[in-house]
Amino acid sequence: MMNLFKKLFKFKSGSPQYDMNSLDGINQIQIPKYEQLQGMGDPSGNIEYILQKKATEHKRNGRMDLAIACLRKSNEIFPHSNFSWPKKDYLRLVEYLKLDRQFDAARIEEQKINKLFESMESDRKKEAQRINKEIYGDCDIVSTNETYFVCSECAKYIKRYFSISGKNKKYPKLPEYLLTSSPEHKYCAITLYPVLDNVSEPAWNYTGNFVKYCNRPFVDERTLEQRKLFDKEVAEKEELALDKEFYDLIFEKFPDIAPKSFGGYRRMKASNSENYQQLLKKAKECLGFDFYSQSKK
Ligand SMILES: [Zn+2]
Repeated sequence: MMNLFKKLFKFKSGSPQYDMNSLDGINQIQIPKYEQLQGMGDPSGNIEYILQKKATEHKRNGRMDLAIACLRKSNEIFPHSNFSWPKKDYLRLVEYLKLDRQFDAARIEEQKINKLFESMESDRKKEAQRINKEIYGDCDIVSTNETYFVCSECAKYIKRYFSISGKNKKYPKLPEYLLTSSPEHKYCAITLYPVLDNVSEPAWNYTGNFVKYCNRPFVDERTLEQRKLFDKEVAEKEELALDKEFYDLIFEKFPDIAPKSFGGYRRMKASNSENYQQLLKKAKECLGFDFYSQSKK
């Protein structure tokens, strides 16, 4: 999203009322009171956006203290913004702290950010439940969506109406686990939304009798290709997360053997170069265990 903004809007550099070139100046910046953004909104004139840009500039000039101060300040402003900033923007502070070898501070900030997002998530859920209740009253029927980006278990439950309580015998009872977010389903794109029985048309195609269709056998109906695509993307995401964990570990504990950047490490790994093999060997000696085979267990 932000790349798009960068292209569409010229960055207004260093508004004169802010001094972003000294620790005092940065720390004195107050949380602004923002007007509501219209439509998709453009936060590129926002102070937290300018601080993020400024952090990049300070980092380039070797002033990590100023860069980190800018990111701390923008993280402080983010939750009060009129734009909902994604977690990856908050996490830049964590990455910069690691680069500056302030690993304990990085861990503290990461925990804070995770907590903040958990509470924002549960606030959003509560708000959605409140709105649903207002619109649908005590509606007991929910629909799942049409998606094939799901595991073999979730695949059994797509494109159906369910009764949440199980009191409505027309539709199957909603499996409990679809109401909770469990780690093994973190990549599954199945969602639920309330529907009015006999009023709302399903948002997906079905054949034959609708009630019968919702009660069809619970089997994974994905094609082989759809299954392969899901498995491949999940494997890629997990590998990326594992590589990051490995890179962060050696960068913290054995900086002499760590490549300069995580991107550099990924390229090295992808090419499976001689240097990469050497690095794995050295890492195993330094750590006293084989990270990748240990993580597979
Ligand atoms: Zn699943």
